[in-house]
Amino acid sequence: MNYPYPDRDCGLTLVNNLPHEATSAPEILRWALGEYGNQFAISTSFQSEGMVLIDMASRISNDFRVITLDTGRLPEETHTMIETVYNRYGVRVEIAAPDANEVSAMVAQHGTNLFYHDAALRMLCCRVRKVLPLERKLGELGAYAVGLRRAQSDSRSFVPKVERKGTTAKLSPLADWSKDEVEEYTAKHRVPRHPLYERGFTSIGCGPCTRATLSGEHERAGRWWWEDGVKECGLHYSANGKAERRIDVLLREVQQARSNAAVA
Ligand code: SF4
Repeated sequence: MNYPYPDRDCGLTLVNNLPHEATSAPEILRWALGEYGNQFAISTSFQSEGMVLIDMASRISNDFRVITLDTGRLPEETHTMIETVYNRYGVRVEIAAPDANEVSAMVAQHGTNLFYHDAALRMLCCRVRKVLPLERKLGELGAYAVGLRRAQSDSRSFVPKVERKGTTAKLSPLADWSKDEVEEYTAKHRVPRHPLYERGFTSIGCGPCTRATLSGEHERAGRWWWEDGVKECGLHYSANGKAERRIDVLLREVQQARSNAAVA
């Protein structure tokens, strides 16, 4: 797929004209490792795209960082992948976790399975369990890479290979890859696959919010399957307008309850 804005300023100081839209995935990783060293990490939930990035990085360096998010609601198979990555690549995955007091306050106010009740509550849960802890972790970094592909959904169709997130560069080296290319790389290099793919999952997230997909369904149809519309958690896409304001209000209430509990 051709990126529609080839001249967009990626906001980085380019080194030897790297990276840019025509830069290959391994070249982007090589550039990031050289430019940022220990301030660069791959952020992954161990889906195939993230595993391809880990495998590519292992062919460039034996010293690179991998971070993941433990929301507290992950399927056991995802925890198994943390061990798999260590056994195959010798990398100790760094785990970002939500603020336990924030989670407690949210659950006390809205229940354990709040995400099934209302789209704004679902986004609140994603904000508390995913977005905020990952933002805290990413704040330590100069650059990070994710496995986004433009073909995954309409909301990802304009993902740039390089963009600025505050002072941090967000890299999507596989932005122009197809699902078949990911599968081909995985097979060719015997990259470990998340066990849930064998059970019909085509996109993998938290246990209660992800199901296997049926033949003919979109690959992200199993994410928040009870909802219509955008299948995103807020890590790579933000709600806007009224929805965003409602989530902000809900989050402030949770954070106020957390503060009140702390001083009680
Ligand atoms: S995917 Fe579900 S359980 Fe996980 S953070 Fe989002 S709403 Fe919460």
